[in-house]
Amino acid sequence: MNVSQILKQKGNRIVSVPEDATVGEAATMLAREGIGAVLVLDRAGRVAGILSERDLVRGLASHGAGAVALGVAEVMTRNVVFCRPEDSIDRVMSEMTTRRFRHLPVTENGKLAGIVSIGDVVKYRLMETEAEAESLRQYIAAG
Ligand code: AMP
Repeated sequence: MNVSQILKQKGNRIVSVPEDATVGEAATMLAREGIGAVLVLDRAGRVAGILSERDLVRGLASHGAGAVALGVAEVMTRNVVFCRPEDSIDRVMSEMTTRRFRHLPVTENGKLAGIVSIGDVVKYRLMETEAEAESLRQYIAAG
């Protein structure tokens, strides 16, 4: 199973905020959408960074309540790591584990094609494991 199969099921929607949004606006977006990270786009629509719950926590810890008025550019991560539709789930899992983050935007031919989270990856890995167990059960039952 690979990233394109996850996107086929969950879709290509990407939740983003503009680079001049505030941290408070980004937090509202995360809460409204029930997600853990948003991409930050520049005026040309290019990815300028990624902002996750962890960045919000870090911002609050260092700036206190004033963090909500900061620009997202001050707390986001600029060096965004992407994956590709053909990447395997195992590869994406190991990338997230090694780099210690839970979101990977997907690019295809230089364009954004979606985003996968650790929750998506674990869900599809479990489905894969269950399918393997079921085919083994059937193999054994067939004698
Ligand atoms: P997360 O575990 O996804 O909440 O993110 C933990 C930290 O990694 C935060 O500082 C994020 O901004 C950053 N981060 C999350 N996803 C990515 C990514 N794909 N590329 C680079 N940094 C990321």
